[in-house]
Amino acid sequence: MSHYPHLLNPLPVAGVTLPNRTVMGAMHTRLETLDRPQERLAAFYAARAKGEVGLILTGGYAPVPEGVMDEGGLVLDRPEQLAEHRLITDAVSRAGGRIVLQILHAGRYAKVASCVSPSPGKARINVFPPRPLSTEEVWATVERFANTSALAELGGYCGVEIMGSEGYLINEFTAALTNQRSDEFGGSFDNRIRLPLEIVKAVRARVSREFIVIYRISAIDLMDGGMTGAEVAEFARRVQAAGADMINTGIGWHESSVPTMAAPVPRATWISAIRNVKQAVSIPVMASNRINTPEVAEQIIASGAADLVSMARPLLADPDFAQKARLGQADEINTCIACNQACLDRIFTERTATCLVNPRAGREIEFDDGITTEPKRFAVVGGGPAGMAFAINVARRGHAVTLFEAGPELGGQLNLARKVPGKNEFNEMLRYFRVALERARVTVHLGTRVDAKSLACRVKAGEFDEVVLATGVVPRTPEIRGVDHPKVLSYLDVLGSGAKVGEKVAIVGAGGIGFDVAEFLVGSAEESLDPQVFMDVWGVDPAIASAGGLKPPVHHAVPARRIHMFQRKPETLGKNLGKSTGWILKSKLRRAEVTMTAGATYDAVDDAGLHITVDGKPRVVDVDTVVLCAGQLPNRQLHDELSRHGVNARLIGGADVAAELDALRAIDQATRLAQTF
Ligand code: NAP
Ligand code: SF4
Repeated sequence: MSHYPHLLNPLPVAGVTLPNRTVMGAMHTRLETLDRPQERLAAFYAARAKGEVGLILTGGYAPVPEGVMDEGGLVLDRPEQLAEHRLITDAVSRAGGRIVLQILHAGRYAKVASCVSPSPGKARINVFPPRPLSTEEVWATVERFANTSALAELGGYCGVEIMGSEGYLINEFTAALTNQRSDEFGGSFDNRIRLPLEIVKAVRARVSREFIVIYRISAIDLMDGGMTGAEVAEFARRVQAAGADMINTGIGWHESSVPTMAAPVPRATWISAIRNVKQAVSIPVMASNRINTPEVAEQIIASGAADLVSMARPLLADPDFAQKARLGQADEINTCIACNQACLDRIFTERTATCLVNPRAGREIEFDDGITTEPKRFAVVGGGPAGMAFAINVARRGHAVTLFEAGPELGGQLNLARKVPGKNEFNEMLRYFRVALERARVTVHLGTRVDAKSLACRVKAGEFDEVVLATGVVPRTPEIRGVDHPKVLSYLDVLGSGAKVGEKVAIVGAGGIGFDVAEFLVGSAEESLDPQVFMDVWGVDPAIASAGGLKPPVHHAVPARRIHMFQRKPETLGKNLGKSTGWILKSKLRRAEVTMTAGATYDAVDDAGLHITVDGKPRVVDVDTVVLCAGQLPNRQLHDELSRHGVNARLIGGADVAAELDALRAIDQATRLAQTF
């Protein structure tokens, strides 16, 4: 009996039978345009097909050049472009999968001077003002969607998804907010939904009955002037009547001020909006956003809120998600932690997507998963992300690995991160590492501080052939007069040992860890775990009674702690936080009235507080605790001692380079080093 009977239940749609209800959602990886050749993208999708995902949706292809996401973006409007698509569809078919092409007209979000829209008005997130389409051009757009669909069928795709959510062109037509037209495409509800319905009809008429037509509806716009829940439901009914085989759901617009998919959003937050769509139609409905485990996916389908579950990032993190669920190996799934660090944040800064927990994502052709012909014995020191990733990957190649960790548990800095509200998904990363170490038969010694002399003896006695050190970092103690005052703590004391922190706090250093500490000291864990609390705080109306589904946020009492953050650089604090997540963190801290001061010189700490100088003016910040978050230094003590004993050990992770070290770089470096043995 399957653990996930609903998730793994096959589903016939149009002329295709999906083997299960998992869908890899559309994501622009930028492999489509950067990092050519197209073989990389084909290998990326084929890996997911091999991992038994039920259906794959490509990143969006525009039906016309002005509908691209940005300069040089994806367009499918001519038959001569199909050769590249064949590479992808053939690779997916050979791997036993099914792939659908998403058609996306970016409308006023297109970062090109020629961008178009229903009505005048620039998007907050675009520098280019759009040109409103004439009535004839809107009808021509309908035809171009049909043209791209016909090309997609010729190119070997098994369907198309018409992108009607997230604030792109079609969504701009359906929302009164962005549609002030007076022709047949504007004004009344019927007129505003005319464009998507005409597109669905035209697409249906142009492709075969076996070809899947999916419409992605905006289940909740999260914008004032969007649709109400009742309008979304009526619209969904009309989409079905127009000929769609399936409806996918989108949550919020890209310019919405409510987070929709980052880690601080609780899992399955948007289910009530998705259920609203499901209850309106009899065709299958897909759920999306913050669904990252087979348990959550199963529960959503079993509850009747949706028929399928779309997961883009979780399939980046683990291409074998569906296969592992089928084989009862869900504990081996490398779970997406919703950090956005290596996927969306890279895509938004014009780099190709990969994944923090899975450096192979998008780089499949660079990795060789073969078994070694010369097995060796490895000693790995340090059980943080770098040490664990190296041990697992090198053991999978057939080497014998022993991992030594001085502390009582595995995880290193991950054990600090997982304590921060909104970062609870790091627990899944630790679970994955623990299980993977066990399955790869790595011998783990916890609570074992390695002594250089005895390790050197064991190497010389032939017990180990190679030594890899992932001994991590030590916090930097800045040179401030009075830094040894009892009110000064390190972030390790606060996040690691649970040291008592006063009510008035200064945080010295505003990198990722400074922000983590601020969030830890003010944050509410519930907000990222309980959808109801999250929606209250961010002003979301789950009933979508208002146009767009927003309501006034619940106001909080004056925060219990006064927090002041400082950095020496004169630039805005948090400038280097993730593009897709930094704004969420900063807005939470603003809500908690945290002050942020740039350009500070730290003069001293004493009983009165933290003495600083800003703009040449000295002042005392009255605090009872100062937390040092001033970066880190590599911990290379063992390396140096081993060298003195004649052992040449390799360094990885923070022990190699501490500056701006993060788990992304540590895991990537460790995984790549393992490939060389
Ligand atoms: P970091 O990002 O390098 O920040 C160190 C901070 O300390 C800076 O604000 C720096 O600002 C300050 N600093 C450096 N030297 C100092 C000195 N001698 N005296 C006083 N202040 C000093 O390091 P981190 O915050 O420890 O984070 C480590 C890594 O973990 C980062 O690469 C980060 O990406 C990663 N991380 C990421 C996240 C995330 O949310 N993505 C969260 C946690 C950690 P000034 O020099 O301007 O004073
Ligand atoms: Fe998920 Fe982070 Fe990987 Fe993106 S980088 S897929 S958010 S784990």
